Amino acid sequence: MEITVLCPFELDSGLLSKTVSIGQGAPVRVLVPSRDAAAAVDYGAKYIHTVDDLGPDETAIAACLEEFIRKTDSKILLAPATVQMRGILPQLAYRLRAGLTADCTELALENGKLLQVRPAFGSSLMATILTKSPIQMATVRPGCFPAVKQPCSDPVIVKERFSSPHERVTCQGYRPFEDQLPLHQAEIMIAGGLGVGSKAGFEKLHRLATLLGGTVAASRSAVDAGFAPYSCQVGMTGTCVSPQIYLAFGISGAVQHLAGISGSKTIIAINSDPKAPIFDYADYGIVGDWETVVHKLLEELS
Ligand SMILES: Cc1cc2nc3c(=O)[nH]c(=O)nc-3n(C[C@H](O)[C@H](O)[C@H](O)COP(=O)(O)OP(=O)(O)OC[C@H]3O[C@@H](n4cnc5c(N)ncnc54)[C@H](O)[C@@H]3O)c2cc1C
Repeated sequence: MEITVLCPFELDSGLLSKTVSIGQGAPVRVLVPSRDAAAAVDYGAKYIHTVDDLGPDETAIAACLEEFIRKTDSKILLAPATVQMRGILPQLAYRLRAGLTADCTELALENGKLLQVRPAFGSSLMATILTKSPIQMATVRPGCFPAVKQPCSDPVIVKERFSSPHERVTCQGYRPFEDQLPLHQAEIMIAGGLGVGSKAGFEKLHRLATLLGGTVAASRSAVDAGFAPYSCQVGMTGTCVSPQIYLAFGISGAVQHLAGISGSKTIIAINSDPKAPIFDYADYGIVGDWETVVHKLLEELS
């Protein structure tokens, strides 16, 4: 069954890769800005619809997307759970009279039914949700799935123009919200937990991240302790990440943290407790003091 991925602002290559794999050969349709059309082909989309300048008005964008869905007769719709799409998708679901599951962390397709998996009841269990409406919709947390190149050999690229409805919102400008790459885009991640002990400790992780070209991440306990901002939190109630390398300093490896790093290619854990659960999950482990290891790495790299 054909699946449509809605990424009108930026392609989520991990979500597109996952969609292609669950589709098992069925064509995947994607809506992306024209600058991402080539990447959409690389990550396996068959029908690439491009759209530019949708503007900032989420209600107007939902109306454009409804026009697109009705025209393409799409029945399974996926979108990244970015700040913008979290605002737009509920409005689109209402317009389409479709069930919508927000913030999924896993997906599967069985007999035309989309299995939408997400944490539920305060993240104490993983729920698999099925939609009864003819159109099935889900948003997926960015970073949950690794991007896998699987180029489509005969792509069809179509430029879309929407009859833009009246807009009630104007854009005053944009500014980056952080001085480092957003978590879900980082290839190298330097993560700290409560074991790092202080904000000053996290500054050392920032120095290491700068030298490695990486991004700093944190466990929820480290965020709660004020060592790092919430935008750094990785895990079930933070961001899901899929970096090439995930270095975990002073993180115990609670299940809620591990849920956010399962897409990581290589996990390296540094913890003074040889029985810390993270060692059961890590590819490489160092039993020792995080600061000693960071100092050695800083010395070596600078
Ligand atoms: C509903 C719910 C949602 C949650 N969501 C998240 C989430 O999104 N993300 C998340 O991270 N957590 C989440 N949690 C919290 C989670 O259960 C853990 O409490 C948290 O991940 C623990 O963080 P930590 O590993 O930094 O701290 P701790 O568990 O306290 O571990 C600190 C570790 O540091 C080690 N250590 C101490 N000193 C040193 C040293 N000098 N050198 C090296 N190692 C040292 C210790 O041995 C220990 O293993 C959630 C919990 C709930 C109930």
